[in-house]
Amino acid sequence: MTTFADLGLGQKLLDALDTAGYKEPTPIQAGSIPPALSGRDVLGIAQTGTGKTAAFTLPLIEKLSKGRAKARMPRSLILSPTRELAAQIAENFDNYAKNTKLTKVLLIGGVAFGPQEDILNRGADVVIATPGRLLDQFERGKVLLNGVQVLVIDEADRMLDMGFIPDIERILKTLPAKRQTLFFSATMPPEIQSLVDRFMSDPERIEVSRPASTATTIKQLLVRASDKTPKSKREMLRKAIDRDGVKNGIIFCNRKRDVDIVARSLAKHGLSAAPIHGDLDQSVRTKTLDAFKSGELRFLVASDVAARGLDIPAVSHVFNYDIPHNSEDYVHRIGRTGRAGLEGEAVSIFAPGDEKNLAAVEKMIGNKIEAVDFKTGNKPAEPRPAKTETREPKPAKGAPRKSNAAKAEVETPPSAKPETVEKAPRNKPPAKASGRNDRRNPRSDGGSVTGFGDDVPDFFKLS
Ligand code: AMP
Repeated sequence: MTTFADLGLGQKLLDALDTAGYKEPTPIQAGSIPPALSGRDVLGIAQTGTGKTAAFTLPLIEKLSKGRAKARMPRSLILSPTRELAAQIAENFDNYAKNTKLTKVLLIGGVAFGPQEDILNRGADVVIATPGRLLDQFERGKVLLNGVQVLVIDEADRMLDMGFIPDIERILKTLPAKRQTLFFSATMPPEIQSLVDRFMSDPERIEVSRPASTATTIKQLLVRASDKTPKSKREMLRKAIDRDGVKNGIIFCNRKRDVDIVARSLAKHGLSAAPIHGDLDQSVRTKTLDAFKSGELRFLVASDVAARGLDIPAVSHVFNYDIPHNSEDYVHRIGRTGRAGLEGEAVSIFAPGDEKNLAAVEKMIGNKIEAVDFKTGNKPAEPRPAKTETREPKPAKGAPRKSNAAKAEVETPPSAKPETVEKAPRNKPPAKASGRNDRRNPRSDGGSVTGFGDDVPDFFKLS
């Protein structure tokens, strides 16, 4: 068994990892850490849940532990597509670097500039940033990038989805040519490959597949709204919620505006519900998420983009107010319930017009979703299998998977992280009446973006 010590990490990090309870490196860590420590560029093809944050944070800390921070001249830069992901990387950094004197600053939008500047002025070893706020601070002269020795780009394919590649290219051009680059992406579309070819030097390529599956039982149900009007869908949602066993849940909508409307409607009907999407202030999103995590808030109404990757504890229910446009999102959404062997239930509302989306979902999961009628509690005449076996889609657009088993086995990552769009490419004109994330994320209003689930795979489970 490879240990963290075998990978070449020093005692301070080993102690921190011990405290974190990590027994052994994950495959992406075992593959990335040694070449990263030796100074090589690393191209990691891995998804959330594989332990990739530690795969780049640990060697970064080890390498930086020898030098000292200078005012406004960070020695390392970690770029993340979303605010929440950046915040979670910062949390990981704090955990792993707790036995060192290294400092970090989180440069994300939606929060005041001043406190970020104060930390930059005092000197931060590591900048963890979303592209938009980093460029804002750079243009204001508050951060200089010519001292960056190690650059990390996380979730590059999501940066592409969100329209950040021009920003990334601008940032890359301002960094010293002589630097180390650690680059992570779940998939390698041509645009990302081109970035790698242009900005990395002979990278060591490490590719890991999704973590081993965790037996997870998710009961999947389909309910039919009487028509496709929002009113009848909301009515059906309330019926789906108002049943025994519904402790808490995440309600997914395909569009941001529906997220707001559905949350307001539920609250009007006396339910504890709040929206989360990219147009909301960062502070509001953080508060909402905290309230949901603490149990104070019972229902989180979310868009795929806003919910993707959020590190949310197990929920009893997932509700699909809309059948997602992208069938992979279905698997990621339902993976938020039924974690770690707990029973979970995912209820999808079907309305006329959803046939194509439903067919794609059922093709993806390789089974029909059981249709039920909450009005009477009766199942409709056509029998459907009660449970299906699904597998988390692979990064490549998934081919249908077939299964006849009655249990759902979903392969999902141990924790999912972030979401929120920072900025649209700077060369695009801002959209008028929309919130900042509309203009910054070409896909943030209604475009479905693949999300990530939350399960803990067996190999991550601590004995
Ligand atoms: P990530 O893929 O970086 O989002 O990590 C997913 C989760 O796995 C996080 O909650 C980490 O704390 C956890 N994790 C990372 N590395 C290990 C490890 N070697 N052993 C156990 N858990 C880990």
